[in-house]
Amino acid sequence: MRASGDKQLKERVKQIIRLLKRAYPAAKCSLNHSNAFELLIATILSAQCTDERVNIVTADLFRKYRKPEDYLKVSDKELQKDIRTTGFFRNKTKSIKGTAKVLTESYGGEVPDTMDELLELPGVARKTANVVLGNAFGVKSGIVVDTHVTRLTHRLGLTEQKTAEKIERDLIELVPRKDWVIFSHLLIYHGRKICKARNPSCAECVVEKLCPSSYLKTGQMPGS
Ligand code: SF4
Repeated sequence: MRASGDKQLKERVKQIIRLLKRAYPAAKCSLNHSNAFELLIATILSAQCTDERVNIVTADLFRKYRKPEDYLKVSDKELQKDIRTTGFFRNKTKSIKGTAKVLTESYGGEVPDTMDELLELPGVARKTANVVLGNAFGVKSGIVVDTHVTRLTHRLGLTEQKTAEKIERDLIELVPRKDWVIFSHLLIYHGRKICKARNPSCAECVVEKLCPSSYLKTGQMPGS
């Protein structure tokens, strides 16, 4: 089914994007931040955690720690306590401190704006780098693939790949570059509201006509 360069598939993707843009005109990054550094920290914290929970934690965190060197002044224990409720707090503390150290020592406390440099930071993988580049710098470096994007692109028949990197590779072929950043936000909004993991609301879905997994067509509930 998946065929890169497939004209019909690309056309369907364009229609899906158009309809979702109309349904979610305010779709944007849901991690609260006021600069690239805060977004980087929030994205590290968002691993295995909801954006909602991250926003609760960062409301205090960003008041206490304003720049990379601030994270280096406290003990691991103190930072772990500050981010504990986001889960995996020991690993996240290691990543945040490691990243803060590199930013302070090599980048004058600023966040670099290239994929290669971001991937050098401890605990920063492609997804985090894409989030920061796309949302803080407006650089369309790739497509963020999270759990919602994975689920929805499978249901919509846009990819059969299983890993985030391979899914991203398929999507890059299908999604117009100008929409690389908004595409993930649209699918995340739609995934939260309508195309939920369990019992998706196909009858209320604005892209139902374009979706091969709709239970109105298959008679079977996706995800069941
Ligand atoms: S039709 Fe159903 S499965 Fe397809 S995108 Fe919409 S809610 Fe999801």
